[in-house]
Amino acid sequence: MKVEFLGSYTDKIPEDNLKEVVFVGRSNVGKSSLINMLVGKPVARVSKEPGRTRSINMFLLGNCIKLVDVPGYGFAKVSKIERENWKELMEKYFRERRKQIKCVFVLLDSKTGPTELDEIMIEWIRHLELPYKVVLTKVDKATQKELSKVLKRIERFGTQLIITSAKEGKGKKELFKSIMEAVKVEGGCF
Ligand code: GDP
Repeated sequence: MKVEFLGSYTDKIPEDNLKEVVFVGRSNVGKSSLINMLVGKPVARVSKEPGRTRSINMFLLGNCIKLVDVPGYGFAKVSKIERENWKELMEKYFRERRKQIKCVFVLLDSKTGPTELDEIMIEWIRHLELPYKVVLTKVDKATQKELSKVLKRIERFGTQLIITSAKEGKGKKELFKSIMEAVKVEGGCF
């Protein structure tokens, strides 16, 4: 897939009119690995130490879709100031791009399902009336029983669900299809 790094932003995000899809999730949920799997290149940093990406990274997929990688949340060692900065950046981003955001992909761990912070994130997205879908990550790590339990718990969100494993290359096609459905771009983008 044709992918171009557009930039990394901690404050001012340049304006444009491209349609965006956003990836959000807890630190260490596997967001960077999933993005790398999707685009087929190591464009996002996979961290051994969670909670390091504090900026919004933007990538151009094909000629017309913007993939937005926002900082993960919920890393215990992050200071109060850093948490406040995260919230401010996210509020600003959601406010400025509201119309362009075609889907927020909320990443949840297949083994543990939504944590309290994930629930707050989903509440926030719903409150902003942004379209969203749930992506389960690291399905290779969950037992059948754990996965069924998680699936039951997220049923109530009533959203489309994509099950993935970056390790095993699972769910790439489904995720790509889901992005294409969300952005509704005509041919010629790729
Ligand atoms: P991020 O903080 O959400 O960007 O998460 P990363 O992509 O950096 O991954 C966090 C950790 O989970 C790393 O040690 C990855 O190797 C591991 N990881 C990511 N995806 C998978 C997966 O699909 N399966 C397994 N077993 N481990 C994964």
